[in-house]
Amino acid sequence: MAEVLVHVDHLDGAVRKPTLELLTLARRLGDPVAVFLGAGADAAAGVLAEHGAVRILTADAPEFADYAIVPKVDALQAAHDAVRPAAVLLPSSAEGKEIAARLAVRLDSGIITDAVDLSTDDQGPVATQSVFAAAYTTTSRVTQGTPIITVKPNSATPEAAPAAGTAEPLTVTFGDAATGTKVTSRTARESTGRPELTEAAIVVSGGRGVGGAENFAVIEALADSLGAAVGASRAAVDAGWYPHSHQVGQTGKSVSPQLYVAAGISGAIQHRAGMQTSKTIVAVNKDAEAPIFELVDYGVVGDLFEVLPKLTEEIKAR
Ligand code: FAD
Repeated sequence: MAEVLVHVDHLDGAVRKPTLELLTLARRLGDPVAVFLGAGADAAAGVLAEHGAVRILTADAPEFADYAIVPKVDALQAAHDAVRPAAVLLPSSAEGKEIAARLAVRLDSGIITDAVDLSTDDQGPVATQSVFAAAYTTTSRVTQGTPIITVKPNSATPEAAPAAGTAEPLTVTFGDAATGTKVTSRTARESTGRPELTEAAIVVSGGRGVGGAENFAVIEALADSLGAAVGASRAAVDAGWYPHSHQVGQTGKSVSPQLYVAAGISGAIQHRAGMQTSKTIVAVNKDAEAPIFELVDYGVVGDLFEVLPKLTEEIKAR
């Protein structure tokens, strides 16, 4: 069976959930071969094999530290040349997309970004994308070289499929550009204890209807009762009520959680662009005519300051 390379996204060896989703999707295309770069491969090998990795190619070098991109492109190119895979899959993170783009140039291959589903037919991998503010769903395939595909987080539910993969060394020769950048400083973001917005299974977002920075406590309380991430509309971000890193939409982040709760958000096309592929959408809005109600699975016409605290209380009681 053809092999499919999966670039492992991890933090000091802790494999991130989008990688497990990629391994699950990769099994539809062939036998997954994980490429683990940096320290911690032995700790990660178990979870990668549990999710179907038939081989785990590993390389560790100082060059991989600090989210350096080019050394990882060098390594993936080496893995590609060794395996000759049917496709290379990466998560649709900022890092994943930059690696994918550079790798596609190196290999003279076509690239598809932000896929939300993968399948295969007799001509090879087929990627599904949600385009034009999620107004259309398209399917496409790469027609030149090895398909390089980035997949959005939450596009699949990770499924265990134990395989025999163990860590095996990958030989990487770094090009001159590998040392062309270095991290000069690092500022840790204050941790809220909440999941990362683009990876969260549940997102609770607030908009202009929240009415002020301090009122976002109502959004955060519901989010915390659900173990969710907090999002915001651009109106709320532009007003300075919540950081831009939490903006959902065309000029913010794109999320695809199992559950998206929009509170005090009207549902402008630019907001929809970032959340319309959510599996279940719930809106709380006091205007029954708000456009957000056109796309929801469940809608509550009401004041968010009445509805959200009751919801939070109810969830906490369970
Ligand atoms: P509004 O449209 O003002 O809606 C507020 C809603 O809250 C209303 O429906 C109101 O009925 C409801 N409400 C008020 N009080 C309450 C209450 N107490 N309880 C319940 N409901 C209440 N927007 C984004 O979100 N993300 C983007 O990435 C983005 N990118 C953009 C890019 C471009 C190029 C442009 C032109 C615009 C972009 N926008 C983006 C802006 C977008 O067009 C909208 O202006 C924005 O999404 C509106 O935010 P909102 O829904 O919070 O505010």
